[in-house]
Amino acid sequence: MDSLYRGVVTADAFSSFEINITQNRVISAVCRNPDVFYPVEGVPVPGPLDANTRYWAGRVMSDNRDDFIRMMDRENLLVMYEVGERSPWIEYMVYDLNGNEVYLRESLSLTKDEDSGDIVGIIIMRDITEQKLVEKENMRRLRVIEGLSVDYESVYFVDFDSDTYDIYRRNSYITRRYGDCFRETYSESIRVFAETGVFPEDREHFLREMQADTIRRKLKSQVATRFIFRVQTDRRFPPRRYRVKLVRTGQGEQHISNVLLGFACVEEEMQAESAQREALESALRQARQAAEAKTLFLSNMSHDIRTPLNAIIGFTALAKEHVSEPEVMQDYLNKITESSNHLLALISDVLDITHIESGRFSMEESPHEIRELITQAVDLIRPQAARRRTRLAILVDDSLPKRIYCDSMRFSQVVSNLLGNAVKYTPEGGRVSLSVKRRTPSPRGYVSMEIVVSDNGIGMSQDFMKKIFDPFERENRTAVSRVEGSGLGLSICKGIVDAAGGTISVRSLPGKGSRFTVNLAFRIAQENEKPEEESAAGKKFHVFRKKKTGEKRSLDGIRVLVAEDNELNREIAVSMLENMHIAAEAAENGKLAVDRVAEMEPGYFDAVLMDVRMPVMDGHAAARAIRALPDEERRNVPIIAMTANAFEEDVLAAKEAGMDAYVSKPVDVKSLLAAIEAVMRETK
Ligand code: ADP
Repeated sequence: MDSLYRGVVTADAFSSFEINITQNRVISAVCRNPDVFYPVEGVPVPGPLDANTRYWAGRVMSDNRDDFIRMMDRENLLVMYEVGERSPWIEYMVYDLNGNEVYLRESLSLTKDEDSGDIVGIIIMRDITEQKLVEKENMRRLRVIEGLSVDYESVYFVDFDSDTYDIYRRNSYITRRYGDCFRETYSESIRVFAETGVFPEDREHFLREMQADTIRRKLKSQVATRFIFRVQTDRRFPPRRYRVKLVRTGQGEQHISNVLLGFACVEEEMQAESAQREALESALRQARQAAEAKTLFLSNMSHDIRTPLNAIIGFTALAKEHVSEPEVMQDYLNKITESSNHLLALISDVLDITHIESGRFSMEESPHEIRELITQAVDLIRPQAARRRTRLAILVDDSLPKRIYCDSMRFSQVVSNLLGNAVKYTPEGGRVSLSVKRRTPSPRGYVSMEIVVSDNGIGMSQDFMKKIFDPFERENRTAVSRVEGSGLGLSICKGIVDAAGGTISVRSLPGKGSRFTVNLAFRIAQENEKPEEESAAGKKFHVFRKKKTGEKRSLDGIRVLVAEDNELNREIAVSMLENMHIAAEAAENGKLAVDRVAEMEPGYFDAVLMDVRMPVMDGHAAARAIRALPDEERRNVPIIAMTANAFEEDVLAAKEAGMDAYVSKPVDVKSLLAAIEAVMRETK
């Protein structure tokens, strides 16, 4: 072939080969890059075409090697010429001598040599590596964009200069829903979309934000900007919030023309966010309320505790000044006792409320006579009613069963609290009535009871009635002289009634009176059912293990060990015992008490009074240690627990530690004597 012609054709080419397909020959080669085209032994140029093609196929590293082999097959090339396909081409990758990837575009030009009639051809190889790398980089970029824009339902490439746009991505919903909005120009499309899709209130803002000028201005100082607007295509449904993100393409250009634009629906996301925010806010509100309630509780408590305490301190100081005047002294002491009892009642109310509110409140049931229960509760109020000359009317329905299962202490607490309030909040000479009736129907084996306490007292306002069962709530009535109370009684009543599965309600008119109604169901007990051992919770004392015979033993001259860490309490206990002619010894903690019992001769102590909370060794551990002593008589010395926590679990713990009885603090002479008497062993 004419070398001038070849020179022109291959001017920008990498390399070229002249081949004769009919003769199976590579005739000549011009190789511009020796790193790619280097001489190989057994594959001469000039030389056989098929051997050269085979060798070259081995150099093709891209996955289209088979295509190359098929194309360069001599038979194939001849057929191609025949069918008029005279410029086949293929692109592939080979490695050069240094192992670099080189992309080649191989193009053939097939002709017939008119002289010989042979089919000949020119192969031109162009290095397209650079172009390929750019393509690859573009692909990579596209994939990056694709990846970054998955959160967007539709993505557009906008050219502001020409007011045109390309749809980069758009899902089928958008196409279906907003198909009409896709107009020739960007500005027209935005206008139509604003009119048909954007929520009317947001339209103006949307159009302003989407204007080329606004976007250009914003993207001058930052790469991306975003805003939220609402879309509403159907009036029947609420609008949904969308986010538009606008990203500048190209770097640091003075004049911004190209922008990538993505739309994403963020309604669910924002709803979830606001739900989360609301949840947090409500948690915060609750925490604040709890903190406020706690503060209120503490300030109420310190006020309510301070009042009787002030009286105790004050009258004690006065008493000291009048030691020689028995009558005055007696009066002060009575006042001190009264305030002490008030303080004690307040503290047990607080403990009850704490138990009720923490849900650790349990009821114990045993058979009781209804009339007895009612009498017990009313008796508690009689003195108070007598003092105020209140007429008490008690009405008990005859059709009620004789005995029921119930927690007598809790029952009495509810009824006496309601009666007490009725008396307290009714002016002197008023009327208070209690009626206990059977309600029908009742479940089999049960009796439904309605307990009504009514008075013709001062009554209360409608507003106050709403919070009457909340702890510490008391109606503030300046006209009424201050009546003692803590505002806990009714909360406790409600707590007890709730725990028993009943209801409590109130009706009242200011100046006319109030009426409290309690509905409760009780299991009916048979006549012959013996009272079970009653719950000890809340009682002054309780005996787990009684002495064997009912014979009374004189307590005169017996000896008791008092284990108590608090000096004052120790002194009180010792003095009480000594006043009863009982010899008392004291130990400051559980450990010392155990040592004392162990070192004295067996039977030296007739009983041990054991405080529960003590340093070094607590009462439970000490009781266990005594019960493990080697000597039988020492081991069996009666032990009475003394604790301030009169709850079921404390009583159980004392019993489990091997103690015989339990006295609740503050200890009074009567219960102490009764407890000692109950646990004392037979005469030695
Ligand atoms: P306390 O009597 O110790 O204040 P309660 O919880 O028993 O506490 O009662 C809360 C408040 O309800 C009382 O302070 C009083 O204002 C009102 N209240 C209760 N019972 C009556 C009643 N029978 N008549 C009028 N007001 C009552």
